[in-house]
Amino acid sequence: VTVKLANIGSRILVFVRVRPLSKKEKEAGSRSCVRIVNQKEVYLTEFANENDYLRLKRLRGRHFTFDASFPDSSSQHEVYSTSTSELVEAVLQGRNGSVFCYGATGAGKTFTMLGTAENPGVMVLAIKDLFYKVRQRSCDGNHVVHLSYLEVYNETVRDLLSPGRPLVLREDKQGIMAAGLTQYRAYSTDEVMVLLQQGNRNRTTEPTRANETSSRSHAILQVMVEYRVKDESNNVVNRVGKLSLIDLAGSERALATDQRTLRSLEGANINRSLLALSSCINALVEGKKHVPYRNSKLTQLLKDSLGGACNTVMIANISPSNLSFGETQNTLHWADRAKEI
Ligand code: ADP
Ligand code: MG
Repeated sequence: VTVKLANIGSRILVFVRVRPLSKKEKEAGSRSCVRIVNQKEVYLTEFANENDYLRLKRLRGRHFTFDASFPDSSSQHEVYSTSTSELVEAVLQGRNGSVFCYGATGAGKTFTMLGTAENPGVMVLAIKDLFYKVRQRSCDGNHVVHLSYLEVYNETVRDLLSPGRPLVLREDKQGIMAAGLTQYRAYSTDEVMVLLQQGNRNRTTEPTRANETSSRSHAILQVMVEYRVKDESNNVVNRVGKLSLIDLAGSERALATDQRTLRSLEGANINRSLLALSSCINALVEGKKHVPYRNSKLTQLLKDSLGGACNTVMIANISPSNLSFGETQNTLHWADRAKEI
């Protein structure tokens, strides 16, 4: 599936990725309730008697259409090249772009974004492609690549490359920045996977589940490319492009899509940043003049990467298991809504 750059910028591109059934899900006797049709459509089946495998019977189904839908057999590379490679191209032209992975805990967000050493994900493949494209340019010596990797957890911003005190957000000419955030100068791809895996291990863990990454933590990798070019009048100008790659917190606790439900949830102890992201998307969908970026740390940090003329990609991750039907349905509805921007 190829998505032309012309599409990007006019609206958010929305993709869905289904992960394979896990061993645990198979052992629990679960069945797949998701089918990908035509590389674009997702068909979701609701079964009756969810708890009784033998009497499982189809109840109803629904089609959703996205810019592309990735079946469980899709490789990391296919996902990268269809969803993100055009953004890397745009960043090398001095524009901003962002890719979000959205979905319930366990749906495959971190696998898609970070991946494993054997099977690197979008973050690593994007950086690899970026270096490759820079080397192809005649003026490659001009390019400087910096990485920063940060976390938003419970409305606290932390540096994942150099853990320590929470960072304060400041506004300057260039926008909102986390003061003191490490800007790691990267020279090659080889060092990046290890760096990002270490960073990922620095994500805040849930107190009750000591060895697990918190489902409430958002991880944001920002890749900045700076270079000099000659403009039409032969003046040397500086250009900066920024790619943000975001592994969002689990969506299971914040799936409301309408304003009333969103407001009633604000008081509860759920993920403020994820709710704020949904609110911003709603405001953008409805064409409102006021988009409430200020409502959370995540949306402040990503203000220049959502809506408007920026290039935004959403990857909705889902489990195929009928045991996760509710979460999958919510994620697909959310993604369907994001499509309207
Ligand atoms: P999340 O970050 O959304 O909570 P993970 O990315 O950690 O979910 O995925 C949960 C589990 O499923 C992990 O063990 C991961 O390796 C596995 N997994 C997720 N997506 C895939 C995939 N496309 N192919 C193979 N395994 C996957
Ligand atoms: Mg994760």
